Amino acid sequence: MKILKRIANLGYGSRKQVMALFREGRITDADGEVLYADDELDVHAAHESIRVDGEPLDPAPGLLLMLHKPVGVTCSSKDQGRLVYDLLPSRFKLRDPVLSTVGRLDRETSGLLLLTDDGVLLHRIISPKAKVPKVYEATLARPLNGDEAAIFASGTLMLESEQTPLLPAELDVLDAQRVRLTLHEGRYHQVRRMFAAVGNHVEALHRSQVGGLTLGDLPDGQWRILDDAGRAALF
Ligand code: URA
Repeated sequence: MKILKRIANLGYGSRKQVMALFREGRITDADGEVLYADDELDVHAAHESIRVDGEPLDPAPGLLLMLHKPVGVTCSSKDQGRLVYDLLPSRFKLRDPVLSTVGRLDRETSGLLLLTDDGVLLHRIISPKAKVPKVYEATLARPLNGDEAAIFASGTLMLESEQTPLLPAELDVLDAQRVRLTLHEGRYHQVRRMFAAVGNHVEALHRSQVGGLTLGDLPDGQWRILDDAGRAALF
């Protein structure tokens, strides 16, 4: 792949716009030497050393990042209102291959959201076969009845308009109206529908963990790129 195409695919602009960056001498190597669009570079090897306006080039394809999603932000690239992509560098929206959310969190749910441009990895994480656990903390409108943990663990709970029962899920009671719930699948509005099925209502929902990955000290609204150790923690 030519250097021009690689930089355009990372969302820095159309090929024409990236060509202009080259002409203006804004694309250099790590020592500040100006690069040219037709330089015969091994882009894979050179990626780390390429600079645009002195800043390292955005990560290469195969990007995986985690975002601490705030409440009130939508997991979509098109909806109206505040989108998760608005919390990332605007270029990230234009990358090819596209950066997609790994599953979704509701607008009113906060917490750990993964995004990747690696389709194989995305499917590996969300595949029901992989059973990557997802941990949620929920605040409930009413005190628990006491039988919810057994119902959720039974593997027989059917949600409305679903064809198959839910996989067993683990409920830890934090206090009368606060719980931690670990799921091994990801159905639409699953946590909210599970509590509706047992006569309760989720008032606040936060995802704290996916596989072995946690948000750590990542502040609300911030993101970070996951390195190999982060990826390994997922499975
Ligand atoms: N379950 C829900 O109900 N909402 C989410 O955002 C995630 C899981």
